Amino acid sequence: MKYETIIGLEIHAQLATESKMFCGCSTKFGAEPNSNICPVCTGQPGTLPVVNKKAFELAIKTAIALNCKIEPQSIFARKNYFYPDLPKDYQVSQYELPLATGGYINVEVDGEVKKIGITRVHLEEDAGKLVHQGAAQIMGADSSLVDYNRTGTPLMEIVSEPDIRSPKEAAAYMQTMANLLQYIAVSDAKLEEGSLRCDANISLRPIGQKEFGTKSELKNMNSFKAVEKALIYEVKRHNEVVSEGGKIVQDTRFYDEKTDTTKGMRTKEFAHDYRYFPEPDLVPVEPSQEWVEEIRQSLGELPANRKARFIKDFGLTTDDAGLLVSNKAVADFFEEALKLLNNPKAIANWINGELTAYLNEHNLTITQANISPAKLVELIQAIDQGTISGKIAKTVLVKVLETGKSVKEVVAESGLTQMSDEGELVKIIRDVIKNNPKQLEQYKGGKTTVLAFFVGQTMKATKGRANPGMVNKLLKQELG
Ligand SMILES: [Zn+2]
Repeated sequence: MKYETIIGLEIHAQLATESKMFCGCSTKFGAEPNSNICPVCTGQPGTLPVVNKKAFELAIKTAIALNCKIEPQSIFARKNYFYPDLPKDYQVSQYELPLATGGYINVEVDGEVKKIGITRVHLEEDAGKLVHQGAAQIMGADSSLVDYNRTGTPLMEIVSEPDIRSPKEAAAYMQTMANLLQYIAVSDAKLEEGSLRCDANISLRPIGQKEFGTKSELKNMNSFKAVEKALIYEVKRHNEVVSEGGKIVQDTRFYDEKTDTTKGMRTKEFAHDYRYFPEPDLVPVEPSQEWVEEIRQSLGELPANRKARFIKDFGLTTDDAGLLVSNKAVADFFEEALKLLNNPKAIANWINGELTAYLNEHNLTITQANISPAKLVELIQAIDQGTISGKIAKTVLVKVLETGKSVKEVVAESGLTQMSDEGELVKIIRDVIKNNPKQLEQYKGGKTTVLAFFVGQTMKATKGRANPGMVNKLLKQELG
């Protein structure tokens, strides 16, 4: 029997608010443990929560970008359970009536666009963090400390429909979602800081069957790679169990990066185990249509539309356009540069190539780096005008980024201008020929491919400053 893989993802994104979901404490990452806490987020008796309006606005913004319906009323509920990182013994979360429902996102996998349904978008608060002493996890630790700084941080949960059919699609979905959240500035979606986490439901079913098979739930994966690898492992595990006539037991599992396997932690709880009930301290939230409309207007052009426009209007490849719109600041940079120089291909190449490589290497954003659209255009124009070679331009760009100087200054100071003086070049070429008699003989003997060797030697002798076109022409002339 043939099986198909059914995957649904729940993404938890920390919202880009200054303060927590129900109190005024700061959400800043990396503060001293237990410095950003107050009576509300530590669940002291007699305190009352107040909803963070900004968190609502950002979640509505996301829901609109995901083509969801904004519900006229949403209600917070208490999800009751005990854990030391949860001082109230319940988590406040939207349950029966979420903020938004029924949307979709288009995800590109292997060059094909796939529409993945969004079941719901809702708001909730995060728990604190346990820091285990003497071991990486609670098992084997001597003791555990608790840091409540994260407690009450606004989280947005985005639940997908079970529309995902492979681990690869799941990773692409998560990447696309992370890019979108960053792009519309609702979350910094930094996986390494835990501001984007992902749970996955996975099951197999015989092809043609309607009902879903028994699922496993994978918890708390925090990298695109982990999501994909954990799911690959689970597909294999499910396949082995069902092909041997066994039954999958519904459970909650964790991915262990070290062994590249998943481990069952507990059999799955059901919703009724949490005794959900409406939070009595908060009123239902009913966003006005005007407010929703205002947020819709503030959203601007979404990355998918911008990518399509870049391809259509500027003739960029799908890859180039995709890379540019994966970050709003980069896409803005591209369009600013384009206003100064109508050469979309060259600008895209420099941004996606050398510039991105430098930014990644130095862990900088395009707005933090010593570069502006005008400087990049200056660089491209210097190549076009023959002042510097394309090769030298790469060195110039790095110098510009390192020093903050203009292209002109860097070129003038380091003597990197292209050599276009024929007389000077001829001298160098003659030396090169004289120093390589063996290759000269080969060339004379009809092996014209040796020309490339002479070009290389000449470029080397001029430290890459020679105009390659001129070198070619002069070499042919000198070699006879
Ligand atoms: Zn607080």
